[in-house]
Amino acid sequence: MSTSLQKNSIFADADKAREYLEAKLWPNGPWCRHCGEADETRIVKVEMTREPRKPVEGKKHRPSRAGLYRCNTCRQQFTVTVGTVFERSKIPLNTWLLATFLLCSPKKGMSAHQLWRMLGFGSYRTAWFMAHRIREALKDGGMFGPLGGSGKVVEADELYQGKRENPLPSKQRGDRPFTKRGKGGPAAKRVVIGLVERGGKTKLVHINHATKESVRDVVVRNASRESALHTDESRLYTTLGEEFGAHRTVHHASGEYVRYEDAAMVTTNTIENVFSVFRRGIHGVYQHCGEAHLHRYLNEFAFRYNHRSGLGVSDMERTDEALKGIEGKRLTYRRIGEAANA
Ligand SMILES: [Zn+2]
Repeated sequence: MSTSLQKNSIFADADKAREYLEAKLWPNGPWCRHCGEADETRIVKVEMTREPRKPVEGKKHRPSRAGLYRCNTCRQQFTVTVGTVFERSKIPLNTWLLATFLLCSPKKGMSAHQLWRMLGFGSYRTAWFMAHRIREALKDGGMFGPLGGSGKVVEADELYQGKRENPLPSKQRGDRPFTKRGKGGPAAKRVVIGLVERGGKTKLVHINHATKESVRDVVVRNASRESALHTDESRLYTTLGEEFGAHRTVHHASGEYVRYEDAAMVTTNTIENVFSVFRRGIHGVYQHCGEAHLHRYLNEFAFRYNHRSGLGVSDMERTDEALKGIEGKRLTYRRIGEAANA
């Protein structure tokens, strides 16, 4: 892997990396990161100042940054990283791009420790910090709009993963939490609701407690009700299923995993596979993930699934998608057309 990576200059050269990022984030040319100005006549590139031939006494030469622009509307300066998760970082931009590529490429992700080793940094903390920042860019999991639709199948299921930090008390056990001794039941675990459109994208949501109401809330917010909903026999989905175009179930308790009904394959195997990659990644790669951070990891795994190689997405294309998400702050820019109409 390293030889092909070294050949790619955007991972080796900070200027090349900046040009690459500019092309990705500004396909129609730079727009002001402060006021949103996009009129090309109002944006001026700041040329780098050369060092004077004769040094001025008592004055240290400070060349202006490469990739610097000035906005003539708000009179502020900006670069392509202003307002992004890469802002105000001393780490060179090519290293940021490489770290993004590394985190986005393996199916099960890459831990901060692995990232640290592969980037050859002095500090684990830096790698940890970078991984968190990059994860910020993947925060919506790369999903826009509802899953499914008319004639489409959406599978839903719950994943019980890892011990909860504050296990729920149990009425049957006199309000003692399930985890007091031994493993405990599902109430002692963290709950994730997973949805996947068959052949399409996924959405993974961490919820506090699986009830009919909380599950319904996640499902109807993320899936089109015109879809056919496929679940197991769990009672969490019975009433909810009536709201959908169709609701078909497989009976896991009796060992039924695939069934055919009206020429439709009824199964929740697709979402089970998504869960399986997540479970193996969390246990094998990340090893520990705090409850407060669980949603970030879920989005990271969903992001990779939603831009998976099975859909013809290459590692570099997946990285590009991640880069589009680095604009963390809500910035809107005035399109030239809109300004003309205003
Ligand atoms: Zn401006």
